[in-house]
Amino acid sequence: MTHHSPRAAPLPTRYLVGLIGEGIGASLSPPLHEAEAAALGLQYEYRIFDLIALRRPPEDVGDLLRQAQRDGFAAMNITHPCKQLVVEIVDELDPDAARLGAVNLVVFDDGRLVGHNTDWVGYRDGLTAGLAGASFDRVVQVGCGGAGAATAYALLAHGVTRLELFDVDHGRAEELATRMRALFPAQHVATVPADELPRAIAGASGVVHATPLGMLHHPGVAFDVSLLPRDAWVSDVVYRPLETELIRQAARRGHPVLDGGRMAVGQAYASLQIITGRLPDRDRMEAHFRALVADAVMSDGAKGSSR
Ligand code: NAD
Repeated sequence: MTHHSPRAAPLPTRYLVGLIGEGIGASLSPPLHEAEAAALGLQYEYRIFDLIALRRPPEDVGDLLRQAQRDGFAAMNITHPCKQLVVEIVDELDPDAARLGAVNLVVFDDGRLVGHNTDWVGYRDGLTAGLAGASFDRVVQVGCGGAGAATAYALLAHGVTRLELFDVDHGRAEELATRMRALFPAQHVATVPADELPRAIAGASGVVHATPLGMLHHPGVAFDVSLLPRDAWVSDVVYRPLETELIRQAARRGHPVLDGGRMAVGQAYASLQIITGRLPDRDRMEAHFRALVADAVMSDGAKGSSR
């Protein structure tokens, strides 16, 4: 009888990864992930599962995840409108994803679905790298939807002393404030009524913009940049284009600015790291991402699409 010595489980030689969401046909994630994985010497394929193109409702995300698991996928990124739905579907949640109540990455780990959130990590890493030395005493955030939940969480985890939340839908600001107060009881989280927004902006150390305004087909600026204190910083989550009207106006006035690219690259970087266990090159990913956005904005402009 031949004796076989035990061997360690081999590392996957080929990674199959995907993205589930609505209206994601023009996502930059496939080229961003695939190019960086190739540079790391990995075979890696990133596929898009657009619920609209597939004619599937968001509630089918669980079925799609289980099918992907059967098909040998390593992981799946999750985007609008499924990030909250997936919280109820996974077998295990990373503690930050559980606290945030949103999942943007599911890893298939030995038959189990494990949910992570790399959106907030991406934003936090952008803050530390892009606004080093800035004051975080009093931050105003404009927009309290999906992206705003991740930025608020990252800001508070980063140690913001006072966070003031504004949304045209005041109920959304109230709801996010209630959740964040429960998670960060030692920090001050307030909501700002519309008529007090100018006063809040005029007293801010920094302002985070997290509404769709500034996207190619949603032009505009959500607040009056001229009200900002001289040394206040401005951060935008919009990244298509990277130079939004807000970023342009704030930079022209000499404010430190952080565009939406850092958050987008940061979440992809953290996702790739969790999926493969390898350390991607953030600068290389960022340079690639900036080139991809420039191309995408040109073709978005020509085709009239936006998200
Ligand atoms: P969302 O619809 O979930 O939330 C947007 C929020 O903004 C809503 O609550 C809405 O009421 C509010 N709003 C709209 N106009 C406003 C205004 N003028 N003033 C105040 N509040 C206003 O959308 P989302 O998923 O949070 O996306 C917002 C933007 O963030 C999009 O442009 C998206 O592409 C971008 N985004 C960027 C990243 C990144 O990695 N950089 C990640 C996610 C989303």
